[in-house]
Amino acid sequence: MTTVAFLGLGAIGRPMAARLAAAPDISLAVWNRTSERAAAFASESGARHAATPADAARGAEIVITCLPVSSDVESLLDGPDGLLGGLTTGALLVDCTSGDPTTSRRIAARLAGSGVGFIDAPVSGGTIGAEQGTLTVMVGGDAALLERARPVLAAFGKKIVHCGAVGSGDALKAVNNALLAVHVWSTAEGLAALAKAGVKADVALDVINASSGRSNASMNLFPERVLTRAFPRTFRLALLDKDVGIAAGVAREQKVPAPLLQLTADLFRIAHNALGDEADHVEAAKLVEQWAGVEIR
Ligand code: NDP
Repeated sequence: MTTVAFLGLGAIGRPMAARLAAAPDISLAVWNRTSERAAAFASESGARHAATPADAARGAEIVITCLPVSSDVESLLDGPDGLLGGLTTGALLVDCTSGDPTTSRRIAARLAGSGVGFIDAPVSGGTIGAEQGTLTVMVGGDAALLERARPVLAAFGKKIVHCGAVGSGDALKAVNNALLAVHVWSTAEGLAALAKAGVKADVALDVINASSGRSNASMNLFPERVLTRAFPRTFRLALLDKDVGIAAGVAREQKVPAPLLQLTADLFRIAHNALGDEADHVEAAKLVEQWAGVEIR
């Protein structure tokens, strides 16, 4: 039996934790800021409901966090109820937050002082990938620590890749999501222009998806979410705004000119401000429609 703690039962964290709870060789404790969510999850899954982060970490060999941003993880470390109060020497913190490399490196250094390992391990594949256990996990940190965590990560991850030193999983995840953002925005602009030029969106997508301009946005997101006007809320626009900002920051830090990443970061900040904290990322297309004065149909 491996003793695991999971903190952060949000849109993606909850189905990831459900996969861990269902694994026969894992004994799971869960903690969530809104305690009722953890209580409900524990009673459905049989996991232990921990009262505090320290309580969750106590006795755990592997502690997994999945929170909006790295600073949320950092803020859970301290205080009498904090993670550092429960983590024991030799334990490993696996941060599945789509985080930022600088904060992850700082967290890793602090934990190293207590003999606790750290890897950043953001995931990709959405809430459905989490439910099905088919997420991609991109890992930064010591490769030996990843090998220790791999059997646990395999409960929700299918492709688990070592990317480099601490922070490199975060950097790769941010760039991946910046590409997603570019595709959502540019597909919306293109389809809005085509709608005004008299080309229906389903006809345009049929052609694009058999041609060189296709992407996950054109193949899946627009047909399933925009053309249907369903816009399900699975991944908040606020989080994609954060991710593109991290990608632009990585480019800046590396002194790589990246005007397209910066422009996309600005556009998603504008969309986030306009549509609010709870909007889904694909709803950014609604802002493009508003600017164009046309609905993508
Ligand atoms: P949600 O906003 O749905 O959930 C956030 C979770 O973090 C909730 O459990 C929330 O608790 C908790 N939380 C928020 N702020 C704090 C805080 N300051 N201290 C402690 N707990 C806090 O986010 P997601 O689950 O969608 O995303 C989590 C991470 O995974 C993000 O980094 C995101 O970018 C990434 N991700 C998300 C994907 C998706 O499809 N949703 C896909 C891939 C990556 P409470 O219940 O109290 O609000």
